[in-house]
Amino acid sequence: MDPLLFPIQELHAHLNGSISAATMKKLMAQKPDLRIQNEMITIDKGKKRNLEECFQMFRIIHQITSRPEDILMVTKDVIREFATDGVKYLELRSTPREEESTGMTKRMYVEAVLEGIKQCKEEGWDIDVRFLVSVDRSRGTAAAKETVKLAEDFLLSTDGVVVGLDLSGNPQAGHGRDFLEPLLEAKKAGLKLALHLSEIPKREDETRLLLGLSPDRIGHGTFLHASESAARDLVELVRQNRTPLELCLTSNLKGETVPSRAQHHFGFWYPLGHPVVLCTDDKGVFATELSQEYQLVAETFRLSDEQVWALCLDAINHIFASSHTKTKLREQWRMLKPTLLE
Ligand code: 5GP
Repeated sequence: MDPLLFPIQELHAHLNGSISAATMKKLMAQKPDLRIQNEMITIDKGKKRNLEECFQMFRIIHQITSRPEDILMVTKDVIREFATDGVKYLELRSTPREEESTGMTKRMYVEAVLEGIKQCKEEGWDIDVRFLVSVDRSRGTAAAKETVKLAEDFLLSTDGVVVGLDLSGNPQAGHGRDFLEPLLEAKKAGLKLALHLSEIPKREDETRLLLGLSPDRIGHGTFLHASESAARDLVELVRQNRTPLELCLTSNLKGETVPSRAQHHFGFWYPLGHPVVLCTDDKGVFATELSQEYQLVAETFRLSDEQVWALCLDAINHIFASSHTKTKLREQWRMLKPTLLE
């Protein structure tokens, strides 16, 4: 059985990191002055960059998506591409950005994303899309507070489309403690929290602080299990709370935070029966697809079709949309299972 045929959910996809080569071509044709070459914004098969270089790539991509119409185009293309890959439920995340050169404000940015989601729905794409507003930790506390306010406004006005807040950005920049206050505020307002943590080694103190917020999901958590023995409490805490981990194999390999497929921390958490969700992170930058991530994990860790199916089904438990949506998705999956596993 080919896992490609399973319906899947994508819960960790950064919008600007998810732009395909085809969409980039369209955008670059509109901005020839930027003189950006493909290898500056995507990491091809067999190639790697360190995390710092990956973050430089995002800065280049941001120059290409500087207008609301760019954000609208990439949102629509990214949604269609995920739908074509078999994704039935998608949580996109993105950092609202203001651009002096074009007059785009953070509010206009979010409105463009929401418009893209709405248009795809009107066009009849078979995919349920939600949005997480991202806080970029490299931009500091004041910007984070502003972003949380914006996220709260949209949480109230979008009838379930805006569901949560993501803490991301270069993990070398700033410290988690600078974001505790706005993150707590977001949580109190009813936004679900997806926090990138332990993405790089020796961040135990920061991780402990962020785990203190009881996040709803963890992004990567690459070095959680590799903590010094004095910090084994972190793994225990995550296990006790059964906090799901969003795992992105290709991203971690190409970004050089994990040395080989077999050493990926999926191999630590999955055998413990801990909830994990496979995701792409940045399908454009890392040149991957969600179906491919499932295949890679299945091959590397020798999962049977039944196990892959169970992994896909379990992801529904960890989405941020309402329990009504979860029930609907489970029903959809149940209807598909008999034919797919025959
Ligand atoms: P955007 O938020 O502009 O739609 O997507 C790109 C941004 O997502 C990056 O600038 C960065 O803040 C965040 N991002 C993408 N991939 C990663 C990742 O692997 N780790 C972290 N910490 N942040 C990421």
